[in-house]
Amino acid sequence: MFSTQKVQASKPIIIIGNGLAGCVLAWTLTKQGTDVVIYGDKSINASRVAAGIINPIIGQRFTLGEHVPNMLDFAKAFYQKIEVELNIQCYHPTPMQRLFSSPKEQENIKKRLKLDRFTPFFTKNDISQQLKPEHSGIVQQQTAWLDTNVLLDALHHYFEQKNIISYQPYTPQSTPNIVVYCEGYHMMHNPLFSWLPLQPAHGEIISCTTKQVLAPDMINQGKWLLPTTPNTCRVGATYDTALNTPTVRASSKQQLLIFANSLFKTNPKFKVIQHQAGIRPTTLDKQPFIGFHPKHQNTAIFNGFGSRGSLLIPWYSQRFTQSLRNRSAIPAEANIDRFCDKHHWHEP
Ligand SMILES: Cc1cc2nc3c(=O)[nH]c(=O)nc-3n(C[C@H](O)[C@H](O)[C@H](O)COP(=O)(O)OP(=O)(O)OC[C@H]3O[C@@H](n4cnc5c(N)ncnc54)[C@H](O)[C@@H]3O)c2cc1C
Repeated sequence: MFSTQKVQASKPIIIIGNGLAGCVLAWTLTKQGTDVVIYGDKSINASRVAAGIINPIIGQRFTLGEHVPNMLDFAKAFYQKIEVELNIQCYHPTPMQRLFSSPKEQENIKKRLKLDRFTPFFTKNDISQQLKPEHSGIVQQQTAWLDTNVLLDALHHYFEQKNIISYQPYTPQSTPNIVVYCEGYHMMHNPLFSWLPLQPAHGEIISCTTKQVLAPDMINQGKWLLPTTPNTCRVGATYDTALNTPTVRASSKQQLLIFANSLFKTNPKFKVIQHQAGIRPTTLDKQPFIGFHPKHQNTAIFNGFGSRGSLLIPWYSQRFTQSLRNRSAIPAEANIDRFCDKHHWHEP
């Protein structure tokens, strides 16, 4: 519906927001020869709170989206290449003990395992001996977690050395560059894009220590436990669409501790060392918001990655970079054109 813009070589693209979306898009554009300037802040955003879990098979129905196997390969190659270039370790391939929450889930997985496209994602291994015998489940492979703090610290350092990141507020210029807003849930306060149907989802995570040696696999039963070292783990996450400000609540900490303790045969005596909250930029149809403003053609958005930023952002950064550089089409499922109708967009 709305044409994409051709980048003018002399003008850097302005990126507003320095979470995973803004930083990965900036990195991708830079590596393909397009100059960028990033405006961000030093807040603890959703990207820094997130556990960074990458799980291709989601929900109680064990859904595997059509493009997800390609996205998974892409994300893995993307993060592993950054690891080499920036001399960091941020991408941790880690199997997942997927515990059933109900007999229905067990039925669902049996059906899935009859389909060839699902079999590469599961092993025939038994679930961990550390878990209580009443748990049943299956072991997933091709799962991973991204240490978002290690990655973002390294990317910020890279951008700072190149002098292309500012922590001052962005002031619009009279001769406009292309501006891409990557503001996470703060987009709800941006009149340019607040008409898009964001459904922000509050989440809390605790970090714990234990004297027990934890097996390295992640454990997922709707909520999850992610061992980060043999004696530390993160446990999450709550999901609450009624709360729009990051808030740590004693009740959530308790809920997460009860879940963690329900998993193991022996009592690991978890000690909580950190409790964090963030807001996921979740969208009405669970697809990202990417594309150009219907009226202000130099103004774009790259947002709406919900609970799956670590998997989706590299893939969509690559596609949006191609759109910005070569006018190639934005993937239809993510293009904000899908909301440019009378029910959503109207000129203020
Ligand atoms: C509790 C929790 C658990 C999660 N777990 C996972 C997980 O396991 N796996 C996974 O893939 N995803 C997970 N997520 C989701 C993940 O965090 C998001 O998909 C992703 O981080 C979104 O990144 P973002 O850059 O769009 O937003 P953000 O991380 O929110 O970053 C946006 C940044 O832009 C800044 N900003 C906004 N407006 C402006 C402005 N005008 N000027 C300058 N700066 C601005 C903000 O302050 C912020 O720093 C989780 C999220 C939460 C809250």
